[in-house]
Amino acid sequence: MTVKQFQAESKRLLDLMINSIYTHKEIFLRELISNASDAIDKIYYKSLTDESLEFSPESYSIKLVPDKSSRTLKIVDTGIGMTESELEESLGIIAKSGSHAFKSENELKDGYDIIGQFGVGFYSAFMVADKVTVVSKALGSEQAYRWESEGAEGYTIEPCEKESVGTEITLSIKENTEDENYDEYLDKYRLRQIVKKYSDFIRYPIVMEMEKSKLKEGSEDEYENYVEEETVNSMVPIWKKNKSELSDKDYENFYSEKHYGFDKPLMHIHTSVEGAVSYNAILYIPESVPFDFYTPEYEKGLELYSSGVMIMSRCADLLPDYFSFVKGLVDSEDLSLNISREMLQHDRQLKLIAKNIKNKIRNELKSLLKNDREKYESFYKSFGRQLKFGVYSDFGANKKDLEELLLFPSSKDKSLVSLKEYLDRKPEDQKYIYYATGESLERIEKLPQTEMVLDKGYEILYFTDEVDEFAIKMMRSYGDVEFKSVSSSDLGIEGEDEIKDDDTEHKDMYEKMKEILGDRVSSVKSSSRLKSHPVCFSSEGDISVEMEKVLNAMPS
Ligand code: ADP
Ligand code: MG
Repeated sequence: MTVKQFQAESKRLLDLMINSIYTHKEIFLRELISNASDAIDKIYYKSLTDESLEFSPESYSIKLVPDKSSRTLKIVDTGIGMTESELEESLGIIAKSGSHAFKSENELKDGYDIIGQFGVGFYSAFMVADKVTVVSKALGSEQAYRWESEGAEGYTIEPCEKESVGTEITLSIKENTEDENYDEYLDKYRLRQIVKKYSDFIRYPIVMEMEKSKLKEGSEDEYENYVEEETVNSMVPIWKKNKSELSDKDYENFYSEKHYGFDKPLMHIHTSVEGAVSYNAILYIPESVPFDFYTPEYEKGLELYSSGVMIMSRCADLLPDYFSFVKGLVDSEDLSLNISREMLQHDRQLKLIAKNIKNKIRNELKSLLKNDREKYESFYKSFGRQLKFGVYSDFGANKKDLEELLLFPSSKDKSLVSLKEYLDRKPEDQKYIYYATGESLERIEKLPQTEMVLDKGYEILYFTDEVDEFAIKMMRSYGDVEFKSVSSSDLGIEGEDEIKDDDTEHKDMYEKMKEILGDRVSSVKSSSRLKSHPVCFSSEGDISVEMEKVLNAMPS
């Protein structure tokens, strides 16, 4: 038996691999399970064309066998196996992907479920193991082979015994170091957790023998332990199921299983898209504001899956900031992944998906507003502010996406009104959409400036959120009707008198008042706008008194 050296490039790559490609060591399990799943897929594809091969999904599985006493973790599959030369090529040459070759030889189009393509995933095993042993027997071959390597030094291949077709990988798990705990990869519960996280939707059962305990027969308090093989992955992802098979309860369960929130989802969106880019997505709008939503720690994003394997746990690019409260996931076969499968190579597909998703969320919210007002208002109470910030940010670029979703309380019994509703019921002669700003509805109602507008029978939107007026300034108009503050100098109302600058009769009094008020006001003038109130504040320019307050409070 000769020790073969890895090819020079491979040596360097292996080093790189072990030290820098992956951000999390636990990824090794995802990679080895993906390979096992690919190997089973390959038998399946062969069985499609080879009649002597029968494929019954039940007899295919991926088994994990951790053993603390020998410090080993075995990953055993019943897949297609590898011949001696395949062991040599696929595992001896880094960046040689047997799976990639399999796809081209069999003319499988991209988008087929086989996961492997770069030929590096296998080596991630060396992040947690100081020795890796692969025993494999290929389909249609009599002889099995053992491949073994302790890392960059090289590997050996020799014939060995193995009864059934498939591959058994044994990792000799590293000893713990000061900064790194490797014991966890021998712990069944931890392994189960890692499988759940990355490989829950691998289509074949991933099994592990779990210790369980039950009441002894005939006894009421004595327990006995027993071992039972447990399938740890869910296999069929809920998002690939037919909507008609799923109940609201199923979606709710998935929401809590995924820890999207402690509440219940207010609504879910389940969508499957085929086209320029195909994907499935399940999105949720939470019922209540996440506890950390307004902290800097809150990160928006959706989980991103590629063919059922989780690639990113929080892909921020999939959501605009104003929909940052949305939770959920996207699964697509059309993503081009980078080598660690932790990132995307091109963001073209991602951008397309993100755009579709944005539109989908907006449309669903629109129809919620139309069809279930109560639910929408409850949503709006939690997240309306986010939408208004969305209108304000990016110089109003999102106006078209968001304007239909806005609601404001108004002078009509203080209930929430959409801009469309406002226009629909506005009197014909009314030129503007009026608004008044203040700390609370009660305060706004007492504003002297509202009197004249209300007297005309016009409705006024009440802005109590700091962002409201800023957002509206960004929008300028809705439809072709401009917004107008009730405290602006020109209200566009017939019969409204100009502020009289030439009120000479009381000139002395105004001058005296200005003298007393000093810098706190820029001028004192008479106005005919007031009815029952003696005086009011107003601002001269575009910035209202309320906006000035906000601006002055901002750190400069
Ligand atoms: P990739 O999966 O991207 O092709 P890997 O480094 O993970 O790259 O694996 C390299 C190759 O080794 C695979 O393409 C496959 O041909 C082969 N291989 C790895 N694990 C197995 C396995 N369990 N059964 C059969 N072939 C395997
Ligand atoms: Mg792989």
